[in-house]
Amino acid sequence: MAKKNWLKGAHSAYDTIIIGSGLGGMTAANLLAKFGHRVLILEHHYNFGGLATWFKRKGGHILDISLHGFPIGMIKTCRKYWSREVADSIVRLKSVRFDNPQFSFGTSFDKEDFTKLMRERFGVLKETVDDFFQTARNMNFFDDLSMTTQELFEKFFPGRNDIHRLLMEPITYANGSTLNDPALTYGIVFSNFMDKGVYTFKGGTDQLIKKMKKELKKNGVDVRNHCLVDKILIEDKTVKGVRVNGREIFAEAVLSNSNLLSTINKLAGQEHFSPAFLDEVSKVRLNDSSCQVYMGIKKGETIPNVGDLIFTSEEDEFTSESLLEPKTRSRTFSFYYPETRPGQNQYAIVSSTNARFKDWADLSEGDYLQKKDELIEKTLICLEKYVPDVRGKIDHIEASTPMTFKRYTKHPGGASFGTKFEGLKVSKDLPKEIAGLFHAGSVGIIMSGWLGAANYGVIVANEVDKFLRRVRQPKQKLEAANV
Ligand SMILES: Cc1cc2nc3c(=O)[nH]c(=O)nc-3n(C[C@H](O)[C@H](O)[C@H](O)COP(=O)(O)OP(=O)(O)OC[C@H]3O[C@@H](n4cnc5c(N)ncnc54)[C@H](O)[C@@H]3O)c2cc1C
Repeated sequence: MAKKNWLKGAHSAYDTIIIGSGLGGMTAANLLAKFGHRVLILEHHYNFGGLATWFKRKGGHILDISLHGFPIGMIKTCRKYWSREVADSIVRLKSVRFDNPQFSFGTSFDKEDFTKLMRERFGVLKETVDDFFQTARNMNFFDDLSMTTQELFEKFFPGRNDIHRLLMEPITYANGSTLNDPALTYGIVFSNFMDKGVYTFKGGTDQLIKKMKKELKKNGVDVRNHCLVDKILIEDKTVKGVRVNGREIFAEAVLSNSNLLSTINKLAGQEHFSPAFLDEVSKVRLNDSSCQVYMGIKKGETIPNVGDLIFTSEEDEFTSESLLEPKTRSRTFSFYYPETRPGQNQYAIVSSTNARFKDWADLSEGDYLQKKDELIEKTLICLEKYVPDVRGKIDHIEASTPMTFKRYTKHPGGASFGTKFEGLKVSKDLPKEIAGLFHAGSVGIIMSGWLGAANYGVIVANEVDKFLRRVRQPKQKLEAANV
């Protein structure tokens, strides 16, 4: 049978080509189309959304990958850069729980409740709590980078590992950051969450991406899946287009939503960059990866409401490293009750742990499968603490590992959250090296997660727009002169 031509009808040239349909790539594509540019978006997977994705399994199960929670800022971003319809489906999670040997309680996960908890349960003076929140809130990109999150915590709450855990554990799950990362990455992300709690998308990721795809098409974006870009075409330090599925397509600007290091080292090629820039690139560290266990509850079964998001751990104390260990006894559970997808009347549970790629990458097939089974079993044992009879109610269970994330997103190391902080400058400097080459997507911890990636897409789309206007002006003048 002849291979399907996924680029059938595609033009030979566009104003901008976007590589990858993560939230960064899609948001940039939508904005550029609204600015009036001709945009092509190329995604290698059959689904759009990148890590903001889902999959379906027998029994009517729809399982979300990264729909655990995001800050309220996503409502404004979606309203401004997507549509009111998308923004209106964002709802607040009702109950976030912590359960570990140091403390166990539910919280609305906002500044007011955290202040109360820190005063009443942890015995911290109000002035200290206020000062901490103020300091975190005032942190910004231009701050001193030398202070680490550990140092920030020690300054305000010396020797209080329990408070460090309360403040850090959810953020580590949210963006892979550790106590050793710059304090400002913590301050920015933590303050975003503390604004008004944790939010989710009613209808599930499938509905979100469906709505976004509809909006892209409405705005005239040429939307293509099954299209793997293997080369960004560059001549004389200027972007010319991309090679995709064996075909060359031209554009004045290319915005890559693929991993930053893959964009530079593989898609563009190191030969196009200056030695000084490559030196910076060589120092960019990838962020960590993840493991997940997806559990679908049999149709007709119910589970009690035990909370939307549970940060659970059996570790006596908090360390960033222990969250990454294959034998970790810390995980989050996201519970999806029928309200998540109104009309479907189904329950699902997803457990997530942060993970190191190297712990999964070099296993024999047998060992890999065995470790996955162990992960599933450990997860079930832990889950039984909250829903004792859950095993009998599950009719679908499977696990993903860093290898899974690598396979589906092409991210080296299965990186769930892009790069560490140093990646942000490299990403921003890309167009200074190659005219017309841009990158948007998870980098630098602060531009990661649903909100960070989408907002970075907006920032970079504005840069692309400025670039396109700049390169067009001389051309238009020339055309006018020739008339
Ligand atoms: C397990 C897990 C849980 C998470 N939970 C949350 C959460 O609860 N809240 C939150 O805010 N964030 C969460 N995140 C992080 C969040 O999902 C990501 O930071 C965000 O979605 C990344 O968006 P992005 O724009 O960087 O692109 P990505 O999602 O990384 O997408 C990049 C896209 O580019 C495509 N691509 C790459 N190379 C090519 C190529 N050569 N040709 C064509 N296409 C290509 C990939 O297939 C992919 O679709 C989670 C992540 C993981 C892994």
